[in-house]
Amino acid sequence: MRPDGERLGGKIRDRERRERSVRGERCGVEGAAIDREDVFPRDLWPKLGDLGLLGITVPERHGGAGLGYLAHTVAMTEISRASGAVGLSYVAHSNLCVNQLRLNGTAAQLERHLPKLVAGEHVGALAMSEPEAGSDIFAMQTRAERRGDEWVLNGRKTWITAGTISDLYLCFATTDPSRGILGISTFLIPRDAPGFRVVREIPKMGMKSVPMGELAFEDCRLPAEAHLGREGRGATIFNAAMELERGAILSASLGTMRRQLERCIDRARTRKQSGRPIGQFQSVSNRLAEMAVRLEASRLMIYRFADLHARGQEASTAASMAKLFVSESFHQNSVDAVRLFGAAGYAEETGLERELRDSVGGLIYSGTNDIQRNIIAHGMRLG
Ligand SMILES: Cc1cc2nc3c(=O)[nH]c(=O)nc-3n(C[C@H](O)[C@H](O)[C@H](O)COP(=O)(O)OP(=O)(O)OC[C@H]3O[C@@H](n4cnc5c(N)ncnc54)[C@H](O)[C@@H]3O)c2cc1C
Repeated sequence: MRPDGERLGGKIRDRERRERSVRGERCGVEGAAIDREDVFPRDLWPKLGDLGLLGITVPERHGGAGLGYLAHTVAMTEISRASGAVGLSYVAHSNLCVNQLRLNGTAAQLERHLPKLVAGEHVGALAMSEPEAGSDIFAMQTRAERRGDEWVLNGRKTWITAGTISDLYLCFATTDPSRGILGISTFLIPRDAPGFRVVREIPKMGMKSVPMGELAFEDCRLPAEAHLGREGRGATIFNAAMELERGAILSASLGTMRRQLERCIDRARTRKQSGRPIGQFQSVSNRLAEMAVRLEASRLMIYRFADLHARGQEASTAASMAKLFVSESFHQNSVDAVRLFGAAGYAEETGLERELRDSVGGLIYSGTNDIQRNIIAHGMRLG
């Protein structure tokens, strides 16, 4: 009886939490409270919209700030300085959804969707990964068929950032499996599309408050104008989204790394053992020096990518290098911060264990770091 009762209690708590995420009800504003409550901070979206941050790269005529990618990178860094989890939701919305819509949408699509996304009335997501297509992403099975004036989608997507609460999904499906990656197309799917449903939220170790969704399309009917970009150009849109994402998504950890380093320096100056500040022990000062080098190198790699991108130069290798190096650095710095604080670093109340949990996702999303190594090595034409 008891385990069943506990399971039921857990399910009810989960459902209440999900409903609060959809309604945007939560109490805390700082990173620790956001992590503890694990509720999507929907109320922050209109505020980010008012600050011009949700459409930072969107032209002013569509309500955006009309700034470049470097400004977007800085915004991601500063938001994640307060909360890495909010930073991740922000990137999924502003880069994966808004940027790709901005770059590929028709005038009517931009007119229809951008104002609400830019104002923070709507939340956006990108849905590519499937239960059987992760690293081998173009093996996707979600199918889109043209029936008269409509597209009909069938399939599943999984691990979609903000997937349970988004209003608009930029979703990829194959229109012609015999054409491989040339058969993939992109669709704009509103949450209320008939035949679309959120299957479940996936519980996870970190990035609490960012609801990861599994989605189902069951004879999901869409009007012809839901197609984004040219038919069969889905892989190109996806690769462009991934290049921007890899080059920049980890700027959402630069802010956290900076805060970690500031806290560690402060701790090294103030915590005394054997009558001395621990920063006077070489093993501690060496650790701090390495953390600082990783942060500085990470920043430079991300800014270099943003600069190459702004000048329209080929940047896919630079993007993969940035993704690989910055995510590994964030993870290593998070481990080092816990070590430097000793047992206090292991305690929930210090918040460093939260950042360590958050850092693990970066090793996996936007293509695992093994895949980034493959891309970098591919550029070497090893045969
Ligand atoms: C926090 C988070 C957020 C995410 N957000 C989104 C999102 O918004 N939208 C979306 O579409 N997806 C999203 N994803 C999904 C993510 O892109 C996939 O998890 C990722 O691509 C890896 O796929 P997989 O999990 O199926 O692992 P698998 O592909 O099954 O890989 C398992 C292991 O095998 C290794 N491996 C597999 N193939 C190769 C290979 N060819 N060479 C070397 N090693 C290989 C991998 O590196 C890994 O170690 C998110 C994931 C996470 C964790």
